[in-house]
Amino acid sequence: MKLNLRINPEASTGEKCETCGKPLTPENLYTRRIGGQVHYFCCSHCADAFQKDQHCC
Ligand SMILES: [Zn+2]
Repeated sequence: MKLNLRINPEASTGEKCETCGKPLTPENLYTRRIGGQVHYFCCSHCADAFQKDQHCC
């Protein structure tokens, strides 16, 4: 049986890590809410790197 589930129906902003561009799979998907928006990464390290580039206010 082939499952083709979307793990997060709200994940419509892209299927790639927003920091390194790596394709996201259910195994490596890592989401973090930053500045009121949910962002998608392949790991927590990429989320950290993304956040460091964010300017606070
Ligand atoms: Zn990444």
